[in-house]
Amino acid sequence: MSYSTIQKRPGALAPNMTDYTALCRDFSWERARRELDGLPEGRGLNIAYEALDRHVEAGRGAHTALRWLGKRGERREYSYEVLARTSNRFANVLRELGVAPGDVVCTLLGRVPELYITALGSLKQRAVFCSLFSAFGPEPLKTRLQLGAAKVLVTSERIYATKVAAMRSELPNLKYVLIVSESGSQLPADTLDYAALLARQSAAFEIAPTDPETPALLHFTSGTTGTPKGAVHVHRAVLMHHITGKYALDLHPNDVFWCTADPGWVTGTSYGIIAPLTNGVTMVVDEAEFDVERWYRILESERVEVFYTAPTAIRRLMRAGKEPLAGRDLSSLRFMASVGEPLNPEAVVWSQEVFGKPFHDNWWQTETGGIMIANFAALDVKPGSMGVPLPGVEAAIVRRGEQGLEILAEGPGELALRTGWPSMFRRYLNEPARYEKCFVDGWYLSGDLVTRDRDGYYTFVGRKDDVIKTAGHLVGPFEVESALMEHHAVAEAAVIGKPDPVAGDILKAFVVLHLGHNADDKLRAELIGFGRKRLGAAIAPRELEFVASLPRTRSGKILRRLLRARELGLPEGDVSTLEEDATK
Ligand code: ATP
Ligand code: MG
Repeated sequence: MSYSTIQKRPGALAPNMTDYTALCRDFSWERARRELDGLPEGRGLNIAYEALDRHVEAGRGAHTALRWLGKRGERREYSYEVLARTSNRFANVLRELGVAPGDVVCTLLGRVPELYITALGSLKQRAVFCSLFSAFGPEPLKTRLQLGAAKVLVTSERIYATKVAAMRSELPNLKYVLIVSESGSQLPADTLDYAALLARQSAAFEIAPTDPETPALLHFTSGTTGTPKGAVHVHRAVLMHHITGKYALDLHPNDVFWCTADPGWVTGTSYGIIAPLTNGVTMVVDEAEFDVERWYRILESERVEVFYTAPTAIRRLMRAGKEPLAGRDLSSLRFMASVGEPLNPEAVVWSQEVFGKPFHDNWWQTETGGIMIANFAALDVKPGSMGVPLPGVEAAIVRRGEQGLEILAEGPGELALRTGWPSMFRRYLNEPARYEKCFVDGWYLSGDLVTRDRDGYYTFVGRKDDVIKTAGHLVGPFEVESALMEHHAVAEAAVIGKPDPVAGDILKAFVVLHLGHNADDKLRAELIGFGRKRLGAAIAPRELEFVASLPRTRSGKILRRLLRARELGLPEGDVSTLEEDATK
């Protein structure tokens, strides 16, 4: 089925980018750099300075930077000035502990204010900040702490006791554990009290000269295709965070912005900490996990204007139906965006119907550090497409061949990006050869397959590893899953290839139903028939299994490789990022 393009009507507030073509023509990263201040007296570029101190210097210190919503209904606001001063205290703590530029500071915390203070304070001291997802089990944690050679860990009493204490002897690089205490009781031996350390320090801190190439952030990838990789980013990345916040998320100063991603994943740092602050908005941080009622309530009562979330959450909202929306006033919402997985056209059409505006899909990776391809506020949205390249980003579709790269007009082929954008990762931890392999002839090869239409819009086909060869066709699971989702009974679907002596692979679909539908043979036959009609017999799923939920990474991505391994009785591989309770 083809979807009609969603055309934009001018809203009350003009988008930051009104003329895409003109901006692409005039854009340069040098010019973009002028939108930031840089450290005083030409002493370089530091992410935390651009996020906080710059606004204080400009007289905007009293504006709310962080609005924190606690799990139990608490609510705390931090102004730009308070966040600047508190992160100064943390930077002073690090300096006193002898943490030097390049040392790795990890957090292992829920979404609490101390995580944000630690991130910004670490960047001020030019340490490398790395946020680890707090729900990781001991093994994945150990691997990451060892791989990152973390020197400082900021965590809670509970997490320390249950996960870290027992492995401390295996972490020789870990010198300091700082505890964010909830109880105020005696802390374990060999740990320090976060609050007490901060209280002793001065709220003034002068950021030392920061070369833009100074390492700033360490992010582990989601582990969708295998063992997670550690990608290192530098302070120059702030240019990308800022510009994409402005153009791809259309952040205006004073907006209320909610990015639902946890800072344990790159989205939760690039767009859950840095981009909103450099753009001077109020960012909402919710400590609690996904909950339909709660989310709609936050959108309504916090008057959220820009909302950035992920397909997995959007599908859960869709699954809950329209009822939880009844009587809600969500008129403050101006721009909604999605990242992390392909956004099924069905979801875009749904959001247009329910919210009166579409979700804007955008594409990027841990390695790219920031949004590269997006549906922009001023451009029409083609449901199912991830949009067009950011001004300043050159994208192409390529095929690796004997003679180097072949550039394709429409694809399908691998999405490649011309190297040189500011937030490009600078290395994979301990894997130089793997890093080198990502680059060919001045292009970064993403590992994702895409097509491009005549208007220059890119559509995701699949990851190279997920693409299925069936009866001479190359099929991306996304297309098939999206087709199945058009059936009113289907809430979610994941499609894999299964070896077949005749066809090469046949397609098997795993389907989660909307509430109120019976997972019986009749519906199975109906869905297989539906798929055939939509897709044609050659690429429609031949097998279909109903499941209560799909396995996904903690960052919300469907783990097709795990479905495939389980189906074929193969080893499950690295499951360190598998969400334990996939039934949510
Ligand atoms: P790993 O590299 O460890 O296998 P991962 O690739 O899932 O994990 P991330 O860097 O978090 O780790 O995710 C980036 C990937 O997510 C992209 O390469 C792409 O496959 C997918 N992705 C992100 N945004 C989109 C989108 N809008 N449409 C389709 N796919 C997307
Ligand atoms: Mg990846």
